[in-house]
Amino acid sequence: MTHLHPEHSQPCGVPVALGSPVAHGAPVARGAPVARGVPVARGVPVARGAPVALGSPVARGAPVARGVPVARGAPIALGSPVARGAPVALGVPVALGSPRAASAASSVQCEARAVQGAGMTGWLVVAGLGPGDDALITPEVLATLAEATDIVGYIPYVARISPRAGLTLHASDNRVEMDRARHALTMASEGRRVVVVSSGDPGVFAMASAVFEALEGAPDWHRLDIRVLPGITAMLAAAARAGAPLGHDFCAINLSDNLKPWPLVERRLRLAAEADFAMAFYNPRSASRPHQFTRTLEILRDACGPDRLITFARAVTTPDERITTVTLADATPDMADMRTVVIVGNSATRRVGRFVYTPRRAL
Ligand code: SAH
Repeated sequence: MTHLHPEHSQPCGVPVALGSPVAHGAPVARGAPVARGVPVARGVPVARGAPVALGSPVARGAPVARGVPVARGAPIALGSPVARGAPVALGVPVALGSPRAASAASSVQCEARAVQGAGMTGWLVVAGLGPGDDALITPEVLATLAEATDIVGYIPYVARISPRAGLTLHASDNRVEMDRARHALTMASEGRRVVVVSSGDPGVFAMASAVFEALEGAPDWHRLDIRVLPGITAMLAAAARAGAPLGHDFCAINLSDNLKPWPLVERRLRLAAEADFAMAFYNPRSASRPHQFTRTLEILRDACGPDRLITFARAVTTPDERITTVTLADATPDMADMRTVVIVGNSATRRVGRFVYTPRRAL
């Protein structure tokens, strides 16, 4: 598990990504296949559409240490904070004090100095880390994390990032999203390269909206280089595990009444059910408001009937994953917690073999 040192730079000698550095600027034939195990020059974009060996996580235009098993749940060891296209090695820890670690750490510092010398300005990226499995982090997000000087986010999400020289991890508690957003914007305006991390997709009940909310009140920051990088949101990862329950029209509802009144949640639930949408529920049930999910199930039974299929997808793509599909008649509140995304089918959603799917057509 990563040791976090919020607000402080991480020590040198921590896991450092070791890619396959070869000559800078070496040409790579457009359209040439990227062979496993073949080192490719840093910073050389591999032609879009070029064949890429399947099963190899590839950062934008750059090789990733291939054939290296990525431990589930291990922090993401990222490359040096350099240009896009730098190799990103996943799960390749380097022993402290080993000559390899020492040379890697010093090369990181050299590259960091080179970047600063080039007069780079600050930026802010809001990035999604996907539902849990590192294999589901996009290459675009990996490459951006490798360039960052600062990572900002909720404690468990920041814990997924492996510390390295030149990177400061700023982990904060839940429910301080606006403070976090302003802190990130402030650092970017001071020239830092800041990534705000969310789980799943940053635009789905997560930090992207908080950052824009903070921007609304601060015109001075409007010219900052700000980007949002998508991730795989929990409902899509869960749907893929179950089969295709979201194969027709659907909606997503956050069941938390933290930022909206509960009567509005009930109204949206009922109207979505009456419109025969399939539905995905985020934040379904927390210890502080268990009765609300009981009420959710009552509304659903009333609007959809007892035979409607409901899938509880817990900790999708992590070692704790559990996917359970039952009818509304058999659903109980304790089947959901805050690590669960709940998917309710529409009136045509059905089982096929061990899968659940919603037909593409509606009558
Ligand atoms: N931005 C995130 C959602 C944040 S809200 C995304 O796009 O996925 C937090 C809620 O997301 C949790 O309460 C749970 O409902 C859901 N969630 C996040 N990760 C999950 C996972 N791996 N498995 C199941 N549900 C998950």
